[in-house]
Amino acid sequence: MSLCALCMAQIDRPGHFPPHARLVKRGQVRTAAGQNVFAYRCEDCGNAFLLTAAHEDAPDRWVLAGDIAGTG
Ligand SMILES: [Zn+2]
Repeated sequence: MSLCALCMAQIDRPGHFPPHARLVKRGQVRTAAGQNVFAYRCEDCGNAFLLTAAHEDAPDRWVLAGDIAGTG
């Protein structure tokens, strides 16, 4: 699925960066790694983002849901 311009600008931003205007929170999902993370979906292009960290000690980042095993 192609990304809208807003989503392109959202990828890999730090977690304190706010969700863009078309991103809607969809609740929590559990990743294959067993983390509970917040999921968002873009109402423009339909892509999903997760607010998650690469590992336990890392800060949260915005990642495309398709980039994480067990989600999307
Ligand atoms: Zn989008």
